[in-house]
Amino acid sequence: MKIVDMHCDSIMTVKFNREPGLRSNGVDACFDNLKAGGYLAQFFAIFSSARAKYEHVPKTTPLLYDRYKWIRNAFYNEMDANSDIIAQARSVSDVLENEKRGLMSAILTIEDGAPIEDDLDNLNGFYEDGVRVFGLIWNFENPLAYPNSEDPEIMAKPLKPFGVEAVKRLNELGIVIDVSHLNDGGFWDVCKYSEKPFLATHSNARGLTPHPRNLTDEQLRALGSKGGVSGLNFCPYFLHERGDKVTTADDIVAHAVYMANVAGVDSVGFGTDFDGTEAFFPFRNAAGIQQIVDALSKKFHESEVEKICYKNVLRVLKENEK
Ligand SMILES: [Zn+2]
Repeated sequence: MKIVDMHCDSIMTVKFNREPGLRSNGVDACFDNLKAGGYLAQFFAIFSSARAKYEHVPKTTPLLYDRYKWIRNAFYNEMDANSDIIAQARSVSDVLENEKRGLMSAILTIEDGAPIEDDLDNLNGFYEDGVRVFGLIWNFENPLAYPNSEDPEIMAKPLKPFGVEAVKRLNELGIVIDVSHLNDGGFWDVCKYSEKPFLATHSNARGLTPHPRNLTDEQLRALGSKGGVSGLNFCPYFLHERGDKVTTADDIVAHAVYMANVAGVDSVGFGTDFDGTEAFFPFRNAAGIQQIVDALSKKFHESEVEKICYKNVLRVLKENEK
């Protein structure tokens, strides 16, 4: 089964372009593991956030936009060095073209819109670079929005006016909006202002696992009715309340079934969060993803499994293209 995964942090593990790089550096979603897992496309997130650690980025890059560029260049270098197995895709037709050539596709995304700084035109730059999915926020307030939070007051705050402008510009440009990490008030503003289907690239169901990073039933339904997709996140804290760091296939399938029951199977996808979360996977890493597919196949028809594994996400990308 082909796989499209909407979120990993693997590009952040490439340190100063040292060998062996992302092809075989042993992280969960390195290219060799993606290949072994039968991936069609992997989203690679650039993470440049004001309050995050930057052990992978030189200290001489003070602006978040500059940090963004540094990580983007690392991504480009990885594409150049591994052009025999993977290539950047800027559209769904690129994905299909790459597939014909026997290549996996890499789609550039942003996790935390903070590198926009205070200039809406930076979005044009992101688009030129091939960014096709834009996460408005991570876990800290930025110029666009407020993050998910245990604090009900923060959770309810609307998008900032600059965030509303960004939503409109992202729609115009053909960059998909990503609401993972966003607070509830912001989510509902995206619903209101976005004219295109959007994504929660790596968020599960709050009704099953009550974590503010997950989406409520009402949100899942709203996302689905806009034609959007939420990506099954493999982080144990978003999947269960056992308190251990183990993620089983059954944990993932339970959320898939729940989300499909609430919002329809057309709104479910993968957003593994590989290399962005501390977890133990009995199925090891991206190379073992077909074990999740097998577990899904026990609960869903084949045509539904295809939707979850790749078709739903490609549909949202396509519907956002200019
Ligand atoms: Zn994240």
